[in-house]
Amino acid sequence: MNKKLFVVSGSSGVGKGTVLKEFLKRNPDFMLSISCTTRKPREGEVDGVNYFFISKDEFKKAVQSDKFLEWAEFAGNFYGTKKKFINQCLEEGKNIILEIDTQGALKVKQQMPEAILIFICPPSLEALENRLRGRHTEDEETIQKRLMEVQEEIKRAESFDYKIVNDNLDNAVLELEKILSGEQENA
Ligand code: ADP
Ligand code: 5GP
Repeated sequence: MNKKLFVVSGSSGVGKGTVLKEFLKRNPDFMLSISCTTRKPREGEVDGVNYFFISKDEFKKAVQSDKFLEWAEFAGNFYGTKKKFINQCLEEGKNIILEIDTQGALKVKQQMPEAILIFICPPSLEALENRLRGRHTEDEETIQKRLMEVQEEIKRAESFDYKIVNDNLDNAVLELEKILSGEQENA
């Protein structure tokens, strides 16, 4: 059984990217999957590094030709995980992490029940909103769309294997390390 596929999910602004960046600095043997998205790049984001930024047409074609392991619409944009990269990593025995939304996480679990799902929670809903706003990357309409997803995301998190509260960043990273190393020992 392969237990080397980990999915990290959580509401927008909870700190998934921040926790994973720190985790990957300390654990360079893990690969982070690079998703495709139709959202516009944020300032500083690089094509092929943060995401593969593609058009809606390209995304549609990739869906039609069954290129995605999973894909979802989130707050008005499309996001998808390419099968090819994931299969290649798994064949090579690499540890892989997907940072994807909760809908995508559940789709991965359906197809790969051995995948381990981890939900990152905020210390409070107020802190979540403050973080999302404090990042200054989205306009008000986009922030509202993202906040409207939160209740559904919390419901979906009930089916996840683990939850981590991202209050203190260092503790959250340590907790993720503990979960991933424990799961690898069981694999
Ligand atoms: P996500 O990837 O989940 O959308 P980010 O990693 O972009 O979230 O984090 C959103 C904002 O919250 C960023 O400005 C980040 O610096 C901040 N942040 C992340 N983790 C913490 C934490 N533990 N305490 C305080 N602020 C945090
Ligand atoms: P953002 O626009 O903030 O980068 O991402 C918005 C949401 O889309 C986040 O919850 C992020 O985890 C999720 N996401 C990123 N890539 C994928 C993907 O390939 N598939 C799915 N389902 N969600 C993704």
